[in-house]
Amino acid sequence: MLFCPTEQPHPPPKMNNDVRVRYAPSLTGPQHIGGIRTALFNYLFAKRHQGKFILRIEDTDQKRFVPGSEAYIEQTLAWLGITPDESVKKGGPHTPYKQSQRNAIYKKYIDQLLAKGKAYHAFDTPEELEAMRAKQRAIGVHAPKYDTIVRMSMKNTFTLPPDEVKKRLANHEPHVIRLQVDHNATIKFKDEIRGWIQVKGSTLDDKILIKGDGLPTYHLANVVDDHLMKISHVIRGEEWLPSTPIHILLYQAFNWSPPIFAHLPLLLQANGQGKLSKRKAIATGTPILPLNWQDQTTHKTIQGFKETGYLPEALINFLALLGWHPANNQELFTLEELCQTFTLARVNKAGIRFDINKAKWFNQQHLKTLPNQQLANQYLLPQLKKAHIKVSPTYIDTLCTITKEHITFPQQIWEDYPYLFYPPTHYPEQTLQKKYTPQASLLLKTITNHLHDLTTWQPNLIKQTIKKLTQTHQQKLSQIMPLLRIAITGTTTGPDLGKILTLLGQATTIKRVQKAIQKWEKP
Ligand code: GLU
Repeated sequence: MLFCPTEQPHPPPKMNNDVRVRYAPSLTGPQHIGGIRTALFNYLFAKRHQGKFILRIEDTDQKRFVPGSEAYIEQTLAWLGITPDESVKKGGPHTPYKQSQRNAIYKKYIDQLLAKGKAYHAFDTPEELEAMRAKQRAIGVHAPKYDTIVRMSMKNTFTLPPDEVKKRLANHEPHVIRLQVDHNATIKFKDEIRGWIQVKGSTLDDKILIKGDGLPTYHLANVVDDHLMKISHVIRGEEWLPSTPIHILLYQAFNWSPPIFAHLPLLLQANGQGKLSKRKAIATGTPILPLNWQDQTTHKTIQGFKETGYLPEALINFLALLGWHPANNQELFTLEELCQTFTLARVNKAGIRFDINKAKWFNQQHLKTLPNQQLANQYLLPQLKKAHIKVSPTYIDTLCTITKEHITFPQQIWEDYPYLFYPPTHYPEQTLQKKYTPQASLLLKTITNHLHDLTTWQPNLIKQTIKKLTQTHQQKLSQIMPLLRIAITGTTTGPDLGKILTLLGQATTIKRVQKAIQKWEKP
């Protein structure tokens, strides 16, 4: 494959209502984050140009079919709000195009290629194919091919008499249908992200178009569908770039004009070494799947981004910047903003590192702007209900405001701040031993009495009272504040103590400090 810096002018981009793009996953397992990024980029491109985003299930590979993959895709897109615009059945719930239901269509088009002499039947057995490959390897060919030269020594339309081909077909002898690739052809195409690319026919295989089971391969079904569905731009992962010359040859063979191609950069491991691998990510506990998925062989659940606590808007923001960048330095985007800003011209060709810390950062940022009500309804209220805890809506609203500045995942409100719901049961011994001196104890008791007498429970007043008493007792705030925090929360760190005291209220605060003192003073 040759990248040519200067070539003919770009084909005029089809824009606006002509824009029709598709996300075309196969059903070979859960789509990982790379596939979802492809879906997102297609969606953003469609929306940017008031075009259509289509979901097409490429399920022609029955051997690699994994049950549950289709529902998984639909649920993922629904969770992220990436809604397909077109449905096979009009009205009712969305039904994607599915290649397994379009076999008659592929049959019609393969017949056209056979009639034009652009495709041919091949009857070679697996053993014969293996023998051919072994022979090629023996003479130093690294990647043996079924090509212009090799096909002349195999069993196919070129080498068998026409009658025999007919007879074999009539007898339903196992066979495939292959594309006839011209050894001398030069295939040129423009990739929107990579520029002009040139490939020699001699480097290509006579790719199988119809398999032994009568079903089309990815190449045939993909091209036929992209043409029939009037796909204007094929936006897909870089791993499909080597297939594109074959697709171009197919468009030429049918005499159809090809869509515009754009191959998205590879996702790399966080250390930049090699392609992002589902297996490695799972082994290290890094989320790589959008939703939970139960592994078919181990029956173990692989945790998804959603269940880890990622907000859909954060995952979208993170994915959008995996290969695309805006004209300015803006980092935080809503889906809406991305739909208005996204262009293929700002997609890089270099591989991009998948850094989970960046995903966490996006989650923190989006959590901060998530309305309290939404945060509570979706994540906190179910927990409180389970634990039979009743608190007022104002209490929930304030606790969300206080905590969401400090968390990465919504469930941390419940997990990291139990003292907002229950009095502490344990206190850090080591800190107490260091800080709970007789003088400190006296001061803490005095503070408690004064706090008890306050007529308004207001952060500044609370702080002033503590400060003044500490000064009078000639002690340090750095000594007394941690003790107060420990008494109330059972921990040494957390959000601003004044805010926590205000939230818990006067009665709870006093009760907790008194209980702590009692406990700490027991012999
Ligand atoms: N079915 C291919 C996949 O599984 C789609 C490639 C393409 O978009 O052309 O990703």
